[in-house]
Amino acid sequence: MRMYDLIMKKKHGGEMTAGELKWLIDGYTAGEIPDYQMSAFLMAVWFRGMTSRETTDLTLCMAHSGDMTDLSSIPGIKADKHSTGGVGDKTTLITAPEAAACGLKIAKMSGRGLGFTGGTVDKLESIPGLRTAFDHAEFMDMVKRTGIAVVGQSGNLTPADKKMYALRDVTATIDSLPLIASSIMSKKLAAGSDVIVLDVKCGSGAFMKTPEEARALAEQMVDIGCRAGRKMAALITDMDRPLGHAVGNSLEVIEAVYTLQGSGPEDLAELSRELAANMLSTAGMGCIDICRERVDESIRSGSAFGKLIELAQAQGGDSRVLRDPSLFEKAPVRHEIRAAASGYISSMDTEAVGMASCMLGAGRETKDSPIDHSAGIILKKKTGDKVAAGDVLAVFYTAKEELLPAAEKRFEESLQISQEKPQKKPLIYGRVTAEGFERY
Ligand code: URA
Repeated sequence: MRMYDLIMKKKHGGEMTAGELKWLIDGYTAGEIPDYQMSAFLMAVWFRGMTSRETTDLTLCMAHSGDMTDLSSIPGIKADKHSTGGVGDKTTLITAPEAAACGLKIAKMSGRGLGFTGGTVDKLESIPGLRTAFDHAEFMDMVKRTGIAVVGQSGNLTPADKKMYALRDVTATIDSLPLIASSIMSKKLAAGSDVIVLDVKCGSGAFMKTPEEARALAEQMVDIGCRAGRKMAALITDMDRPLGHAVGNSLEVIEAVYTLQGSGPEDLAELSRELAANMLSTAGMGCIDICRERVDESIRSGSAFGKLIELAQAQGGDSRVLRDPSLFEKAPVRHEIRAAASGYISSMDTEAVGMASCMLGAGRETKDSPIDHSAGIILKKKTGDKVAAGDVLAVFYTAKEELLPAAEKRFEESLQISQEKPQKKPLIYGRVTAEGFERY
């Protein structure tokens, strides 16, 4: 086989065979196919797309390019959730303890922040002492003992995706449905859970801008997971406004604590509950209404919050900050952003809000730069809210006063204030399962 011929075939819209994809992924992972040829192939895929069968075969090759996690020695049903990324999305910190409190086993590998989006590993690491790097035996042991562990990727998981993602990032080929679907699902399949629930986001703070695009991605990923023998569901959810009020690592952990204690923001509590209920029902633990009740009971009884405490302690964290969030280290600089005009917030460019938080120190400048766990934004107003000139729209937290002006400019540019109340958008558009699409 020659890479030149495969690029030519895809350039003309041809369908790759499973054998061709295996040759290509194995060769690229082994360093035998150079980046420039892989870049040309990825761009051909960007223009020509892939059939559902091709995307599934590509995903399986990528999943098998490294270790496949074997969770079979953990008794019970192992369930995972994945969000396609957003701003203020701390649902894992709520949904995973809810699902674990209801009896599922959560052996989860999460990522760090990427671009304007936050990452669960960075958020968890804002708990003093908490570690996210464990070897496989320690990871398995924690899940067996407490029913939950959320760690960073370890071992040689999906090396093909690591190389391809880095290449896509610099060749303008991230936003391709088959490439996103195969990237996400290869990692989920390699992570080994029986049940996978996806949160596919759409809107200004997501890769997919419309619910229709998000539905197509969700259908593709559910199809891949089902073909690989996993139990799948995907929710299509709104990311046209940040989720909850907190954006930034420790600020988000604090908001997750309040939500697990029953006093979090409505949108965050609802989405976290719906994801957990879908994990339970997809695992066969009852119809969705019964599963919602079980999740609600885990909040009322405190058992879900208890699971977060267990997770923090097992991973070496100081759980006193969870019981009393005022103990979290505070950013030395606090700065209020006020409305310049009266009216309704008619839209928020969610990506720009995420970027403003990163500019305050909550995100990385470069791949290896440190982050400031206490930096970020508390939103006092969101899309649809009425504001009067001079009202506080948001509070910025940072360690460095000099970071404020640029972040403030980015934040102010992200908001539109108009005289008309905007139409309310649904938080959850619908659900995709093996049975098809169901509107919420
Ligand atoms: N997240 C991933 O893991 N991969 C993509 O391609 C996009 C989002």
